[in-house]
Amino acid sequence: MIHLSQKSDCCGCHACVQVCPQRCISMREDDRGFLYPEVDALSCVECGLCETVCPVINAGESRRPLRVLAAKNPDESVRLASSSGGLFTMLAERVIAEGGVVFGAKFDESWGGVVHTAAESMDEVAALRGSKYVQSVMGDAYQRAYAILRQGRKVLFSGTPCQIAGLKKFLRRDYDNLLTLDVVCHGVPSPLVWREYLKDNFGENVRVVNMRDKSKGWSAYRVKIEADCNKYCRPASENVYIEGFLKDLYLRPSCYVCPSKAGRSGSDITLGDFWGITQCHPDFADDKGVSLALIGSKKGEGAVDGIDISAEHSTYENAVRYNPCIECSVSEPPQSVAFWNLFEKIGAQAIEEICRSMRPSALSRIILRLKTILWHIIHRR
Ligand SMILES: Cc1cc2nc3c(=O)[nH]c(=O)nc-3n(C[C@H](O)[C@H](O)[C@H](O)COP(=O)(O)OP(=O)(O)OC[C@H]3O[C@@H](n4cnc5c(N)ncnc54)[C@H](O)[C@@H]3O)c2cc1C
Repeated sequence: MIHLSQKSDCCGCHACVQVCPQRCISMREDDRGFLYPEVDALSCVECGLCETVCPVINAGESRRPLRVLAAKNPDESVRLASSSGGLFTMLAERVIAEGGVVFGAKFDESWGGVVHTAAESMDEVAALRGSKYVQSVMGDAYQRAYAILRQGRKVLFSGTPCQIAGLKKFLRRDYDNLLTLDVVCHGVPSPLVWREYLKDNFGENVRVVNMRDKSKGWSAYRVKIEADCNKYCRPASENVYIEGFLKDLYLRPSCYVCPSKAGRSGSDITLGDFWGITQCHPDFADDKGVSLALIGSKKGEGAVDGIDISAEHSTYENAVRYNPCIECSVSEPPQSVAFWNLFEKIGAQAIEEICRSMRPSALSRIILRLKTILWHIIHRR
C-alpha cells in the first residue's frame, strides 16, 4: 500500500491511482492545492502494484543525452506562439500526420486549472502549446495512452520529468510506437495559489492566459491575461505570480528534491529554453525563441531527424551552464513557511507581501550596480 511519510514522497503523477486493480486509491487536494493519493485500506488487497509504479520510490538512473541541439521551428508564427523554439509543435505535427495522438497539458475552461489531455488534431495541439506554470492534473491520461498504444497508433506523450517517469513506470515496458518528451523543469507551482491569484486579480470571466507572451521578445517575455474589462500584458519580471514562482515560494514539496532530473525520467527528448544562446551560438540567436533539445535515446534521435528543424549542435556543458534546472532541484527558501502561513490568512495577497520582503533594498541595488560596473571596467582592461 502506498504510504507517504512526508509530502515530498509524492510528485502527484497519478500512476498509483491508475494502476490499482481495486480502484481503491483516489487523489485528494491538500490545503496547499496539491493532489496526494489516499488509499481506502478496507478495499486494498496489498498487491503492491502502486509501489511498483511510483517514480519517487523507483527513481531512474541519471543519464547524459546522446545529442544536444539548439533548434528552431522554421515556421515563425508557430515559434512566436511557443515558449521556446517551437519544437514541441513540430514533433506533435509529425505524430498527428501519422494518425497518432499527442498528450500534454492545457488550461481548463476556467483558465484556473491545468489538465493533461489527448489531442488528435493540430487544432487540439494548439491548446497544449506554451508553458503553463501550474501543476497539471494527470487524471487517467496514462490509461488512455496505454489503450491507444495497444491499438498500434503512435503516441507522443509530453509533460514534466516526473510525469514522464510515472508514465514509464505505469507502462512497465517500452513501446516502439511511443515517443516521450519532457520539459526542463524549474518545479511546478501550486494550482490553488494560481486559482486564487487569478480570481483575486481578474475575477471569474477570464478569456485568455499566456504566461510566455513574446510580443516584446523571447528574453523579455510577458504575461498576458484577458478578462472582462481587464486586459493585462506586462513583463514577466513585473508579474507577482511569476516572481513568487521563480523565488520558489509555492512549488510542490517533491520539486525541491526532484527524483526525475538529469535524464532520470528516461524521456526520449527533453526540451527547454536555450538561455545561453547569445553566448554559445551568437549567430543562431534571435529574440524569437530557441529550443534547447537534449536527445536522450535512439528513438529521440530518429524523431528529431524526421522533422525539418533549423538546428546547431551544442554541448551538454553549454546547456547546464545556463540552465542548472536540467540537473539540480531548486532549494526551498526559508520564506516559504511564512508564505504558506500568510496564504492561509490572506490568500493570494501573500505573494506580494512575501516577495516584497525578499526584494533587495534600494541601497543593495545601488551597491550591486556599482559592483557590476566595476567588474566590467576591470575585465575590459
Ligand atoms: C512548470 C514548467 C517549468 C519549466 N521550467 C523550465 C526551466 O527552468 N528551464 C527551461 O529551459 N525550460 C523550462 N520549462 C520548459 C519551457 O518553458 C518550454 O516548455 C520548453 O522549452 C518547450 O518549448 P517549445 O517552444 O518547444 O514548446 P511549447 O509549445 O512552448 O511547449 C509546450 C509543452 O510543454 C508542456 N507543458 C506546458 N505546461 C505544462 C505543465 N504545466 N505541465 C506539464 N507539461 C506542460 C506541454 O504539454 C507541451 O509538451 C518549463 C516548463 C514548465 C511547464
